[in-house]
Amino acid sequence: MSMKIYNTLTRNVEEFVPNVEGKVNMYTCGPTVYHFAHIGNLRSYIMEDVLEKTLRYADYDVKRVMNITDVGHLSSDADTGEDKMLKGAKREHKTVMEIAKFYTDAFFSDCAKLNIKTPDVVEPATNCIDSFIEMIQVLLEKGYAYQAGENIYFDTSKLATYYVFGNQSEEELMVGVRDDVTEDENKKNKNDFVLWFTKSKFEDQALKWDSPWGVGYPGWHIECSCISMKHLGEYMDIHCGGIDNMFPHHTNEIAQSEAYLGHKWCNYWFHVHHLNDQSGKMSKSKGEFLTVSLLEEKGYDPLAYRFFCLQSHYRKPLVFSYEALDQATGTYKKLKKRIAELDRDGAVDNDAVKEYKAKFVEAVGNDVNTSMGITLVYDVLKAELNGATKRAIIESFDYVLSLDLLKAEATEETGVDAELEAYVLAKIEERKAAKKEKNFALADAIRNELLEKGIVLEDTREGVKWKKA
Ligand code: AMP
Ligand code: ZN
Repeated sequence: MSMKIYNTLTRNVEEFVPNVEGKVNMYTCGPTVYHFAHIGNLRSYIMEDVLEKTLRYADYDVKRVMNITDVGHLSSDADTGEDKMLKGAKREHKTVMEIAKFYTDAFFSDCAKLNIKTPDVVEPATNCIDSFIEMIQVLLEKGYAYQAGENIYFDTSKLATYYVFGNQSEEELMVGVRDDVTEDENKKNKNDFVLWFTKSKFEDQALKWDSPWGVGYPGWHIECSCISMKHLGEYMDIHCGGIDNMFPHHTNEIAQSEAYLGHKWCNYWFHVHHLNDQSGKMSKSKGEFLTVSLLEEKGYDPLAYRFFCLQSHYRKPLVFSYEALDQATGTYKKLKKRIAELDRDGAVDNDAVKEYKAKFVEAVGNDVNTSMGITLVYDVLKAELNGATKRAIIESFDYVLSLDLLKAEATEETGVDAELEAYVLAKIEERKAAKKEKNFALADAIRNELLEKGIVLEDTREGVKWKKA
């Protein structure tokens, strides 16, 4: 089944054609693990998760790789400021590796709550220092890099084109260059970037490695080029990240990768636009630090946040507010309730399942149109199909949407889990049958089994009633 995807390289929605038929090599820039991810970061990972799952749903064989940035990402994306990891370690009086471990685990725990699949390969930058050094050596040999002030820089003037994202102006590309930008006097050209630091304005860098150029540490961009090539080879199909990664991070990744390889590296660039709060940019240091745990503390289901994200298109900025999340939560709960109320009668109509699967790929596969995917769920609910077929179709869509659409939960009215209810009712039927056959031992065993689960049965004139103990 074919898919379309907006490619930041060409600024067009294109038919997706992988390098090798049926196979997709996909890379995602992972988190910088110096703090919790905010829900903005997680918007990017949710939408990338949908892209990956839609490809799999459309029968592509996908291999997805993600790095973990545990060294080299400075507080400004333009190679200045302090290493974010070191900042995190100082803030919490821990070592950099302790911080990295803690926040890597926290990241994947947030992802699990949001039903984001863990990529096939997850590789921390500090695992791959040797391959960074090797790539830098090749760039030096080929004349694309130079040493100045004891650091190694990439020489952007050696490239025919440096700005590759659809001829955008430098200004347009500056989204990612954050505060604290000071010029580095060692650079020959304004856009040159550091491949390897041996000397920087801060001397207390915690993690350092030996290299042919002295003890130091890698720049941020080199890790994604090396880690992706290590696991996906010289040709990549899709590279993902948040829109702020486009420049300088992805621009620099392309520069160094193609200089190193001598050919085109990645065909499709997928960028997720930002989640903003009402004051503008989402931040980990200013205002309310919006994390998944904070949403949970306030009583929100993380999947209602996933639903909120899926309601809008990934190429539009999204503004977060509690009112908007309340609204999404209400719609999400109602949708789940309608699905829970579907009867289970009848045989599954497999032709209808197939037909709807194709419709879903066409809708969501058209540049990750998630809101169309949700609309299709409502279409199924309204369709002239039996309950069993509707459930089967929605279950299949939920592989991609990952909203636990068929998982019953406590209803607002009764506070009772529908799955539990179904279980108890089945047990009551079993007990009734046992009694009818005068198998009182079995009837008592069933009553005790329920009691152990905190369920009390009462035999009344109207029949058996049950309640939580
Ligand atoms: P970081 O941990 O800072 O390296 O960022 C992790 C991912 O989140 C990157 O792909 C960023 O581009 C992305 N990102 C950062 N801020 C936002 C935001 N407000 N909305 C969506 N994605 C974001
Ligand atoms: Zn990256």
